[in-house]
Amino acid sequence: MVLLSTSVYLTLAHVLHRNFDQTLMNRAKQIKEFRDIISILASGTFEDEAGEFISFYFYADKRLMHISNRKSEIRLDTEIIDRSISGENVFLTIDVPNMGKLRFYLSPYKPDNPKIAPGKYSRRRDERIEGLEIHSAALCIARPLKYNDIALQHLLRILLFAVPLTILISGMGGVFLAKRAFKPIDQISATALEIEENDLSRRIEVTTKDELGRLASTLNQMIERLEKAFERQKQFTSDASHELRAPLAIIQAETTLSLQKNREPQEYRKSLQVISQEVEYMSTLINQLLLLARADAGKEYLLFESIELGDFIREVCSDMEILCMDKDISLEVNLCPDIVVKGDKKSLKRLIHNILDNAIKYTHCNGSIRVMLEKDNDMAVLSVSDTGIGIPEKEQLSIFERFYRVDKARSRSDGSSGLGLAICQYIIKIHKGTISVESQIDKGSIFYIKLPMTSTLTGILHLTNVRDAQNKEDDARDSYKTAAIASN
Ligand code: ADP
Repeated sequence: MVLLSTSVYLTLAHVLHRNFDQTLMNRAKQIKEFRDIISILASGTFEDEAGEFISFYFYADKRLMHISNRKSEIRLDTEIIDRSISGENVFLTIDVPNMGKLRFYLSPYKPDNPKIAPGKYSRRRDERIEGLEIHSAALCIARPLKYNDIALQHLLRILLFAVPLTILISGMGGVFLAKRAFKPIDQISATALEIEENDLSRRIEVTTKDELGRLASTLNQMIERLEKAFERQKQFTSDASHELRAPLAIIQAETTLSLQKNREPQEYRKSLQVISQEVEYMSTLINQLLLLARADAGKEYLLFESIELGDFIREVCSDMEILCMDKDISLEVNLCPDIVVKGDKKSLKRLIHNILDNAIKYTHCNGSIRVMLEKDNDMAVLSVSDTGIGIPEKEQLSIFERFYRVDKARSRSDGSSGLGLAICQYIIKIHKGTISVESQIDKGSIFYIKLPMTSTLTGILHLTNVRDAQNKEDDARDSYKTAAIASN
């Protein structure tokens, strides 16, 4: 407002002054065109305009003379008059006592008729000049600036009143509007403050469809995700304690029973075998829980390198062959060569091991398992099919949840925790792959694992070299901590 007002004021002042000067120039031109203007002026019959002052200055007998429409003379600097007589146009403003500020325009004048009638042309009052000839003079026109000044002062008064008033009104309006606009934010933050960890079922009321409405629904979606995460966490903790309580109860019952009275050595042996079995189950479970906890916290460190998947799977399968032989299960391995993926060997081994272990566990004796590795565009597809008990269709998605087991009683007696596939899914996620299952009850299941391939075997050499170099440094592992883990 201040800048605008200042520029309006200055522009108007400039325009008024320019127009004023232009008017003086036009007036000078008009006067110069009058015939015998000096004689008319001297005779006192010239009709001047609104308080203007007109003079001709000239030299006669080497003395500076003037002829004016006014009796009173305004003394001008002789040097300025000389400049004008010798051909220069001059503007100047002079504050004249009793008359206020006057704007002067001096312009050279060469009369068509140099002879002028006799009269009082001298600066000295009573000196009369006869038969004078004027060849060059300076025409001086002066007009009072007071009307310009009055207009500018008027504008200034308006601005000085209007600017603070406008600022005050717009300020008050701004505060009012801002308060109204921020009210929903206050409501959102008040509700957000009331929402506590234990009561994530509350939601922020969405009243508008504008940015704030969208903010509220985004926050609601976030709270919903948090609620689900907390629920999962609670469920996980309660499932974990439940899983650990069962073997502990068995160990406690077994020891109490054994200690009640003296028993035969084989009875102690049997009890210790039961205890050892339960301890082994607990140890596996705790390891799995630790792995998942580390994964959740993003603290699982991985070493990514190029892996020739065919050789790698063959190695894991040969480790598992003994388990197949125990149950007379035939294991067919069909692996396409030259498929390279980038991954963490330890995790991928655990992944393939879990899937194969399940296939063996849930396949009857004399059944068969087939492991196949193929290419599908730029994905490596590992499929593990078995002729086992199969998974009911409605449970095929749930089996990847933590502690989910289709047949709870049976899996528990097998030493299964229901965490195996949850771990597999986590490993698949950090390798940017997918895992899915197709299954039919009593016919068998096929697990498909898809992993993105890297280009060629040269990649292996290169990456292995990089890895070797990195291994020389103590902090090599940190540099391989994957973005996937970080984002997890
Ligand atoms: P578990 O340790 O119980 O095997 P998983 O997470 O590995 O836990 O598997 C979850 C559940 O999925 C198992 O309890 C089982 O009911 C079912 N399942 C997994 N793999 C197979 C399979 N190959 N055949 C039939 N059921 C399976």
